[in-house]
Amino acid sequence: DLEIALKVVIVGNGAVGKSSMIQRYCRGTFTRDYKKTIGVDFLERIIECEGEEVRLMLWDTAGQEEFDAITKAYYRGAQACVITFSTIDRDSFEAAHSWKMKVENECGEIPTVLVQNKIDLLDQSVVAPEEADLLSRALGCRLMRTSVKEDINVNSIFRYLTTKCLSE
Ligand code: GDP
Ligand code: MG
Repeated sequence: DLEIALKVVIVGNGAVGKSSMIQRYCRGTFTRDYKKTIGVDFLERIIECEGEEVRLMLWDTAGQEEFDAITKAYYRGAQACVITFSTIDRDSFEAAHSWKMKVENECGEIPTVLVQNKIDLLDQSVVAPEEADLLSRALGCRLMRTSVKEDINVNSIFRYLTTKCLSE
């Protein structure tokens, strides 16, 4: 059997929890310390999906997202995408649409999930639930609400994307 490998890019403004998400999913750890980057291009995790072994490569940015300086190499060959914003960061929510456009420009239409992270901080939320729902409909992708900190819904993101990729 040939193993299937999928490159997944994780985009969104700085500090929304992208590196934490990748670490949580691939290493099972979470840290409160603000880390600009996990220090490598990507981490990987192998999962089984529909009887296939799938190698997921989750690509992190090294903080370039804050300067709008993500290189083409980052996007090259990406087969799936996670657009992330934070429950407590209005700017990150407003920026989701432009992240979608950037990915579409570089990669075309690929399976994409809109992720609202940090739902453990819902009491400090600056995004109404209906707004997030509307945005996901406008972008044409599913909305998932996660807490990387509490490990809520993180696995579902990547299971959903893998299933979508395999069915295409
Ligand atoms: P990135 O810049 O998008 O890669 O964001 P980081 O992964 O570096 O996370 C930024 C900060 O948010 C760190 O202090 C993380 O510990 C914190 N963080 C990430 N996910 C969550 C979450 O689900 N809930 C809470 N409360 N904090 C989180
Ligand atoms: Mg980061």
